Amino acid sequence: MKLYNTLTKKIEAIVPIHERHLGLYACGVTVYDYAHLGHLRKYVMDDVLVRALRQEGFEVKFVQNVTDVGHLASDADTGEDKLEKGAKKYGQTVWDVAQKFETYFFYSMDLMGNIRPDLSCRATDHIQSQLELVLKLEKKGFTYVIPGDGVYFDISKFPDYGQMAGLDVDNQLSGSRVAVVAGKRQPADFAVWKFEKPGENRAMVWPSPWAERSFPGWHIECSAMSMEHLGAQFEIHTGGIDHIPVHHTNEIAQAEAASGKKPFVKYWVHHNFLQVNGEKMSKSLGNFYTIDDILKRGFVPQALRLLFLGSHYRSQLNFTWESLQAAQTAWERLSQQVKMIHQAVTERRDRLQPAAEAVETLPEYRNFFKAIQTDLDTPQAMNLVWAVLKSAILSPQEQYRLLLEFDQVLGLGLAKLELSPAQLARSGRVDLKALPPQQSQTLQQLLSDRVVARRHQDWAKSDALRDQVNQLGMQLVDQTDGSQELRWLSQTPESQT
Ligand code: AMP
Ligand code: ZN
Repeated sequence: MKLYNTLTKKIEAIVPIHERHLGLYACGVTVYDYAHLGHLRKYVMDDVLVRALRQEGFEVKFVQNVTDVGHLASDADTGEDKLEKGAKKYGQTVWDVAQKFETYFFYSMDLMGNIRPDLSCRATDHIQSQLELVLKLEKKGFTYVIPGDGVYFDISKFPDYGQMAGLDVDNQLSGSRVAVVAGKRQPADFAVWKFEKPGENRAMVWPSPWAERSFPGWHIECSAMSMEHLGAQFEIHTGGIDHIPVHHTNEIAQAEAASGKKPFVKYWVHHNFLQVNGEKMSKSLGNFYTIDDILKRGFVPQALRLLFLGSHYRSQLNFTWESLQAAQTAWERLSQQVKMIHQAVTERRDRLQPAAEAVETLPEYRNFFKAIQTDLDTPQAMNLVWAVLKSAILSPQEQYRLLLEFDQVLGLGLAKLELSPAQLARSGRVDLKALPPQQSQTLQQLLSDRVVARRHQDWAKSDALRDQVNQLGMQLVDQTDGSQELRWLSQTPESQT
């Protein structure tokens, strides 16, 4: 696997620190409102990445957090905690709001076909490890206290600060990047621990050496939890591009300052946004749709997944209902063809294609995985899916096996697709299993011979075999995708529904 690494600005081959093991940490959602399609895009592409790494033989430990405390309303160190904001909006306690939207997040992820992380960790379940990390930073002299406000990380003590994002911290004017907090030594210094303000009456507070009622800063949770579960140094960390200049920059500073090891993370993977009318789809802008919004309009989650797979994770994608409709039409076509291929495979099992090749040797297979392993080029990989469906050369077995292999990475659930008995009857297709064994066997042989004839471009023999099928009261219909269908002669293709 090769991925674009934000740290080095290059596409690099993934080399694990230990043998075939890869630690992967994905920044999770802030559970103060509904997970929306923007999140779904990011987590579908994380899912594709994890699937692709596993398919390639890496042993991936996939950790994803749940931010349920400390994320303030902006990237600044001031303002309301998002969870407290959500609690007010929905008239519930912060704990109930966190639970409700965490459940909604996983409900959405499951519908999208995402494999769950090996470990999902909540910030509120890791207060102790966050506190210990701050104490370690304090002991090493990286922090200072602003009375009545919080414990701050002093970026002047960490010379590499902002390297990944290319920040020019020396020339940053006070307040240019983040709202000014009185007492900050540098504008980019950030809170690692916050104190409750008089009259604030927060629901989520913990005692600390600095204040009886206090809580962790947002960034500390990801450094603390990733290091606790994946070690002081691990391989892959993902997040949206919005995390590059602040959240991930601060994570690196905290982690490397505390551990003294560099790099904290070898490969930083950043996802571009799903937009609406040129703006990031976001909870704070209120321009978002949830998975239920799309289900209510009659769309299926696979259509959305297909829409996401059709664009590269590092490109912006503008969401429109028209593009979702186009993806839904594509999904209907794709799933119908997969069902037909599956039917052909079950009907003609072991007979049709005795010469079926190991799919790993087919160029379609190699090119698909080459695209995936080149910085997750899902649009190119999808082109190969369509090429396999259209192929006049591949046998149904080969097509089916290729598609199932591809789907280990794509996660569309293709293995579950089958024609229902009603669809089968409506299509006028001949169900070979329902015929007398002798007749079924004869037909299977004719079909099998015809595939071989067509493969050798022996058109005369192919036509002769088709005539023999006709004499049995059936017709062979060659599909545009190269497969052949067996229908009763009394039914024409047009009578299909
Ligand atoms: P949040 O819940 O805001 O903490 O976001 C969780 C993750 O989803 C972060 O990595 C964000 O960058 C990402 N994210 C949020 N909105 C979008 C969007 N519209 N498109 C892509 N990723 C997003
Ligand atoms: Zn994070």
